[in-house]
Formats: sequence, structure tokens, C-alpha cells
Amino acid sequence: MSEISLGILGGGQLGSMLSVAAKKLDIKTIVFSDDQDAPAKKFCNEFIFAQYENKTQIYDFVKKVDFITYEFENIPYETLNEMNKLKTVNPKPSINRLIQHRLAEKDFVNKLNIRTTRYAHVENKSDLELLEDFLPGLLKTTTMGYDGKGQFPIQNIDQISSLNLDFSKEYILEKLVKLKKEISVILTRFGKNKYEIYEPIENTHEEQILRHSKIPADINKNLSEQSKEWSILIAEELKYIGTLCVEFFIDRNDNLYVNEIAPRVHNSGHLTINAYNVSQFENHVRAVCSLKQIPLKKISNAKMINLIGNQIIPYRENALLGDNQFFFDYLKKEIKEKRKMGHLTTLK
Ligand code: ADP
Ligand code: MG
Repeated sequence: MSEISLGILGGGQLGSMLSVAAKKLDIKTIVFSDDQDAPAKKFCNEFIFAQYENKTQIYDFVKKVDFITYEFENIPYETLNEMNKLKTVNPKPSINRLIQHRLAEKDFVNKLNIRTTRYAHVENKSDLELLEDFLPGLLKTTTMGYDGKGQFPIQNIDQISSLNLDFSKEYILEKLVKLKKEISVILTRFGKNKYEIYEPIENTHEEQILRHSKIPADINKNLSEQSKEWSILIAEELKYIGTLCVEFFIDRNDNLYVNEIAPRVHNSGHLTINAYNVSQFENHVRAVCSLKQIPLKKISNAKMINLIGNQIIPYRENALLGDNQFFFDYLKKEIKEKRKMGHLTTLK
């Protein structure tokens, strides 16, 4: 084992896969999570169960690690900032604060002259009543949303009176894009103009949850180039270190829009574990631990299917897979509806 210890905040499946990648590089992982049964507990070297606000536990954790990263956005900014005073946190806490707020994120992207959906800030019901132009739309909480949580579709203005919204939270109303396709671009930035970029991935969502991802994406060359260019511009502007994912919409007229940025490894990039020489997880660990950058090589086309809720059961019971198939079980304690339980990647 090398001398390097990587601290990971958050203990979901992304934390597990980061831990597995780190182990391959001889790096020790210490996962900090507020969920006692976090899946990453089974994959890391050491596990700390504590609240993200617990100062004593935060300092114990910081003392044990050389570098710090996180596997989901919703870590309090103060926690990341305190940690960053003592050990290097990447991506930088200020980047996370910007991106975890849907409104600040979209303002930032638009300032770079990159197209997003049309959106408006909503603080109360009367704001909403003036936004008929943005319908049909999706009302989203500005923070803490994932997998479609905190989102309300609104078809027409009459629906607004019946919506039961908690206005202690802030919202953003987004005009619905008539989607032809969704794609994502994942890249890992190591420093100024130093990055490894994966080819665009085509994603299919159902009920706002990712169902499957594949490469190559069935898109024209322009869209492929534009999506990569915009992703690089975003990463450079943020002076980002680590793996980042940009989610895009393509409308029926082949217009490209940035949907959102994830300042972390991403579900659509699970197929990089088997389809590339270096996965998004290994690249993230390399970048945040200041290890060597390795040129990316694609090994195969691939398709990844998320196993949600009960869909995991037949795979657990009968692991008869082809040579080109790879089954991942996140070993979550309980099967829940709409919960990502595992995934299956097929190379072809
Ligand atoms: P989350 O943080 O939950 O991933 P997203 O904003 O990415 O939130 O929304 C999840 C999914 O919902 C998107 O991938 C897309 O399929 C759909 N969606 C979200 N916003 C829009 C929109 N403005 N127009 C069309 N579809 C949308
Ligand atoms: Mg999303």
C-alpha cells in the first residue's frame, strides 16, 4: 500500500466505485457518511459514520487523510470550506457551491455564451402566476434535487393553484425542452488545458431517472464536437480538478443545451469502467491525488443498464453473464422502488 490516503465524503455507489479504483492504485480510502448503512462501507478501507456538521468528527477525518473529495453535491459548503483550510479538497468548495444551486449554475453557464433551457427564479406563488411563458415547464427546487426529486411538472397556469409548494425553499421554473435526445460528456481535468475527455454518451431517462447509457451516442459530428468544446470551456473556466460531467439536451431541431453540471463522477460514466483503459473513477482519483495523467484509450462500444428497485433480483439470483457483460451490485441494505441497486454493462 502506498502512503496516500484519500478521504471521500458521501458513501453511495459512486463512493464505492471510487474506493475500488483507489485500491487499484494502492491508495487507501476513508469514507465519511451520514448513513450508517452506506454502500461504500463495504468497499473502503475505513468508514466514519457522522453528520456532515460534526466538527470533532470532521477534524478526526481531516487528520487521517492526504486529499479530500466528495461523491455527491449536497455536502454543506461550510464543511468543505473548513476541510479545505487544512487539506486540499477537490473539486474546490466554491465550485460545489456554485453548481449545487440550479440558478447560480445556469447563470454561470449562460455567461459563457452556452445555451441552457429558459428559466426563471420563483420565490412565491405570485411569481409563478406571471410565468405562463415558461409553460409547459418543470418547477425544480434550486438545491438538493437528484433523480428527479424536488421536481414538479406544470402543464398550464390553472394547475398552479392546486400545487402544494413549500415556499421556505426556492425554486426555478424551466421551460420544457422538446427532447430528441439526452447526452452527457465526462472529462477529467488535471490542470490548465490538461484533461482527458470521454466521447459523448447517449442517455435515456424514464420518470427523470437514468435508465440506460451507451457509446457511441447516435448524434452528428457537430453536436459531438460542440458538446465536448462546451464541457472543456466549463471545466477551464472553473479551474476544475477531477472528473466532471455535463448533461445536455438535444431538441428536435438539433439545438444543444446544457441541462446541468455534476461536479463529480456520474452514473452515465459507469460504462467507462469496462469500455476504456482508465475509468472516470480512476481518472478522478488520479487527478485529486496529483497522480500521473494517462492518455485515454477506448476499448469497446458499450451499453449500461441501471438496475432499479426489483430489477436487481434476477441478476442476483442468476449471475449467468456473457463474457462481454459485467454486473455490479451496489450491495444496498434494502431494495426500494426507484432506487438504483446496481448496473449491467455490455460491451459490443
Ligand atoms: P436531476 O438533478 O434530478 O438529475 P435534471 O434537471 O437533470 O435533475 O432532470 C432530470 C431529467 O428530467 C432530465 O435528465 C430530463 O430527462 C428531464 N428534464 C429536466 N428538465 C427538463 C426540461 N427543462 N425539459 C425537458 N426535460 C427535462
Ligand atoms: Mg440530471
